Amino acid sequence: MSLIPRRCEKCGERRRDVARQLDPYTTALEPESDDHDVVQLCEPCAIERFEES
Ligand SMILES: [Zn+2]
Repeated sequence: MSLIPRRCEKCGERRRDVARQLDPYTTALEPESDDHDVVQLCEPCAIERFEES
């Protein structure tokens, strides 16, 4: 367990809510696919990316 917040790939901020996750954009577009990138995004950026899809 690390106490250093991860850096969001999108806004570049280090935040405690940054999580590694499957790309919300491609998972929304192609939920059947299992070939999604893993991205590191904070909560607001993940939601924003999902809404762009
Ligand atoms: Zn962010």
